[in-house]
Amino acid sequence: IAANQAEQHGWHLYLVGGAVRDLLLTDSDQPVMLTDIDLVVDGFHRSADVGAGVELARSLQRLYPDVRLDIHGRFQTAALLWHKDPTFDSLWVDIATARTEFYPYPAANPEVEASSIRQDLYRRDFTINAMALRLTNPRFADTRKGPGELLDFFGGSLDLQAKQIRVLHPNSFIEDPTRIYRAVRFATRLGFEIEPQTERYIRHAIASGIYEQIQDRQVAGRVIAPALQTRLKSELKYILQSSYWKAALNQLAHLGALRCIHPKLELDDELRWQLRSADRWLHRLDRSQLLPSWQLLLEVLIAHLAPDDRASVAQNLQLSADGIDRLVQLEPVRSKLESLSISLSPSQIVQYLKPYELPLLILVAVKSSRAIRKQIWRYLTIWSTVKPPLDGNDLKALGYKPGRQFKQILDDLLSATLDGRVHDRAEAEAYLAQ
Ligand code: ATP
Repeated sequence: IAANQAEQHGWHLYLVGGAVRDLLLTDSDQPVMLTDIDLVVDGFHRSADVGAGVELARSLQRLYPDVRLDIHGRFQTAALLWHKDPTFDSLWVDIATARTEFYPYPAANPEVEASSIRQDLYRRDFTINAMALRLTNPRFADTRKGPGELLDFFGGSLDLQAKQIRVLHPNSFIEDPTRIYRAVRFATRLGFEIEPQTERYIRHAIASGIYEQIQDRQVAGRVIAPALQTRLKSELKYILQSSYWKAALNQLAHLGALRCIHPKLELDDELRWQLRSADRWLHRLDRSQLLPSWQLLLEVLIAHLAPDDRASVAQNLQLSADGIDRLVQLEPVRSKLESLSISLSPSQIVQYLKPYELPLLILVAVKSSRAIRKQIWRYLTIWSTVKPPLDGNDLKALGYKPGRQFKQILDDLLSATLDGRVHDRAEAEAYLAQ
């Protein structure tokens, strides 16, 4: 339908990027579930058509009024969202106008101008992501150029066969350091290798100090970092929420790319252990709805830096206010707990840990000694769920008058239960009678 609409305007329409890659990677007899599709409109001659992508999206929305339409004017792109329904997963369709991006200085935001599909593909990250499938009929009858024609100017399908992640031009990583994270993400996800020359470009970009620009927020007097940091964070999110996050982090560390997060961040054995433990705790406690595991893993990564560096890195990566707060609180809470005697009773430990939420306690636990870690684990799995054998109604039935004293009595009963002095109702009543 989109292709029909484009043809009515005399435009070409292409499926581009990841969807083409995934279609070519899938066996022809397997159904492909695409949830995110990128389309590019091209082939117009009037300057008025530079907004062709947006116009096409608007005409699709007229046909499907329930669809949500977002327009990103600056980049002449539109996004359509078909919501999930019982028979159909939600589907994002991004429609762009064929464009070239030129970078007036390294790590800048792309400037956009209308251009041909080849140029549009050339600005992409890797050969395997730089192919297009034509969806429209050509204006002049040419059977080779009908719908379904693959446009592969840079050898993407050969690289798919050879399982290689190959960049399109030498400066690619200097223009956009987040592509280093993308290279690692695709390599680990698809089981591909980063092609040797591409790896040399990555190492060169890192050696040239490109990561400093992610932290510095300014290049040539212009603030560029927020957009770059947003993209870095979204790449980190992709990686840390995937099943292959350990392999991807190892590869990023091997390439020296963790420096993009902070120049001193190193993936040593201690950090590996902390990441694995935090992930395990979150899953064993079955509380990943409280904090997505990628967010916890990112906080553990940042917590590996010196306490003074944590908040600024967290702010740079635009972590949530809660996340930044946790990273600030981590050190004082950790050292307070370490200074406590390990022979504290369960009720005393509950008293100490009660003010803190689970995600902070996991962060503290993975950074603490074994003894403290054990206490936090017991608190989270056992002691925090203990209730006294009597409740407020029982106290009323026993003749106690509701009031401030009530809470004190219930707290005392809870402590006695936690410390094993009270086990059941009879013992609780005897305890109160004392
Ligand atoms: P996934 O299946 O993980 O979503 P994808 O290839 O669709 O993979 P997106 O991040 O959605 O990944 O990007 C869509 C396309 O946009 C890519 O295939 C690539 O062509 C292009 N692209 C995305 N980010 C960049 C970038 N930083 N530099 C160059 N091209 C990019």
